[in-house]
Formats: sequence, structure tokens, C-alpha cells
Amino acid sequence: MKKNAIVSVDAGSSALATLEHAGDAARWVAVQTKDAGADGQFYYAVRTTGVYCRPSCASRPARRENVLFYDNREEAEAAGFRPCKRCKPDQAALAEQYAATIAQACKLIEAAEQAPSLTQLADAVGMSQYHFHRIFKAITGVTPKAYATAHRGKRVRQELGRTDTVTQAIYDAGFNSNGRFYASSTQVLGMTPSRFRAGGAGTEIRFALGECSLGTILVAATEQGVCAILLGNEPDTLIAQLQDSFPRAVLLGGDTGFEQLVAQVVGFVEAPALGLDLPLDVRGTAFQQRVWQALREIPAGTTVSYRDVAERIGAPKAMRAVAQACAANKIAVAIPCHRVVRNDGVLSGYRWGVERKRSLLDKETRQVADGDRT
Ligand SMILES: [Zn+2]
Repeated sequence: MKKNAIVSVDAGSSALATLEHAGDAARWVAVQTKDAGADGQFYYAVRTTGVYCRPSCASRPARRENVLFYDNREEAEAAGFRPCKRCKPDQAALAEQYAATIAQACKLIEAAEQAPSLTQLADAVGMSQYHFHRIFKAITGVTPKAYATAHRGKRVRQELGRTDTVTQAIYDAGFNSNGRFYASSTQVLGMTPSRFRAGGAGTEIRFALGECSLGTILVAATEQGVCAILLGNEPDTLIAQLQDSFPRAVLLGGDTGFEQLVAQVVGFVEAPALGLDLPLDVRGTAFQQRVWQALREIPAGTTVSYRDVAERIGAPKAMRAVAQACAANKIAVAIPCHRVVRNDGVLSGYRWGVERKRSLLDKETRQVADGDRT
């Protein structure tokens, strides 16, 4: 028995198409309009040329009286017609070939630990990068990159249910940089990791990581202003600090506009004497706020002791609490806790390291001296 070779046609649309093309008149309309939607539903043969075609064939239209319709290509070939060299009715339709190719690319993306590059994907399926990108998007609705991100996002979602920390989930899902994950996490999760875990309450805090002469810098801001400037060596540690400082907040990766704010803060950290022309969102107890306000009144290039600060806020016996408030400061440099030294003038602990404290003070002393000379 001859096997039925109609290839993978959706049952619903097939039934519809059968109705539509049941009559030869309807089929003839499909041929005249080169209706690609009718491809695979029937074939037409032209007596004068001896070839058979798909309805969408771009070849010159035949005269109606020379055209015959066949339900499948076997019937057309059994009647003695050859496949047209132009529309190649004996091969899978181009759309089907593309679908198969793109499915192959999707599998490559899903199987890879690191998202393959556009070049790697295009090479693997034998297409030019441009063509591959276009076809991929046409079929899947997203770019290969977005597909890879979404796929890893799916893994993050699974990991978040199993691991204790957001950071661990990110690594387990194959993201090699926290910053990059957070930058794309809103699209991936539909909400940020923290919000995802907390079930959705809290303030929105945008943040981004950057580099400055003191190492890695994390800048975070609410609608009201800069709420954190953190310094360190490891991006992970800074993100963890931010999460610890604002446990109920929704952390969002910064967008392009935010990068400018980060650049401004980095510029300020490099030259603190110039001041930071940005609003701060200072959150703390009333006592902490008093200490931090007093710190902001210490000019660049000078230092004061914890005792000085305690006296300035009218609580001369609260030296220990002053030291604690300095240690709790989340806005490095802009709230210059680095300008507070021990009562004997020795540099004491600094949340972000004594070396950074020394660098900052040296920098400020030089800058103020330079400023005096000009
Ligand atoms: Zn043809």
C-alpha cells in the first residue's frame, strides 16, 4: 500500500483548508493569489509544461484550462508530472526547513552552560549571522540572546525554590555575574529575585556596580535619592550588603539612565572635595541621622574624633553610639564617616577597610591642597 506522505499539517487548519479548497474554484483562487497558506493542502500540475507546483509557486501563471489539482504529490507524480524546480514541491517547505533549523538552535542554547554567541549558533546551523538572527526572531518571536536569557531565567526560577540565597540560585543557573543577572532579571522573572522570594512587598531600589580607584563600587538609589554607596573588592559581597541593609526592598538592576548617576557618584568618589550634587535618601534612627548630619558638616581634607562628633550633636557621653552610627553608614564618602578618627588621631576601623579610609583621606588632603594653590 502506498504510504500517505502528507507532512505534519496541523489537524485543525487541515480540516479548514480542506473545506476552503474542496472546490477547484477555491483552489484556482489560491493558485492565482500564490497563497502560501494553501501550500501542503494540494498541488497543481500544468499539462503544457509537465510539472507540478505548490500553490504559492512564483512561476508564471498557467491558463486555467491546462491546470489540474492533486491532493498530494504522489498523485501528481503518479499522473506523470515532475516536481517544479522553482518551488520544489518534493522538498519540505522553506518554512518547515527553517522551523527545523531554529528548533535545532534552540536545543543548542538550552544544552549550553554559557549562552552560545550569534556566530556559534549561525555556524552550527549553516546560516549567515544576519539571516539566522532574522529567521530566529521571525519564528520564536525573540532574539537568540533573549531566548537564552529566558531559558536561564526558567532555571533560576527552579533554583530559587531550592536554594537559600538568591546569589547561589544565580550561579546555579549559569549566570556568571550577579550584575548581569540583576540587569536582566526584571524581564526574566517578571519581578526581581528579592521580590520573588519576599512575595512582593517593599520599596524599589535601583542599583548598579562600577569600578573606581578604591575598587568595586555599588551605587543604589530610591525615588528619593542615593540610599547606598558601598565599596569593596567583590561585587557579590556588595550586593549581599545591599540586601542585608534593605531586606524588605525590591532590588532592580539599573537602566541606562542609572549608569549616568553611577558615573556621577564615581566621579565624586574620585574627587570628594568637589561635593556630590545629588539628593540622598538617608534612612536610619533619629540618633543615626543626627550623627550622619554632623559627619556631612566635616569639610574634606580634615578629620575629627568620635568625641568631637559626640559633642557636636550634644551627646558628649555617647561616643560609643557615635562609633556605631559611623559603622552603620551605608552611603560611603557622601556621608564621610572616613573623616572620623580615634581620639588619639589614629585611623581606626572603617566599614570598607582601613586602607580605603587612608586612600580617601590622602586623596582629599591632596585635592584640598591643590584647590588652595589654584
Ligand atoms: Zn513551481
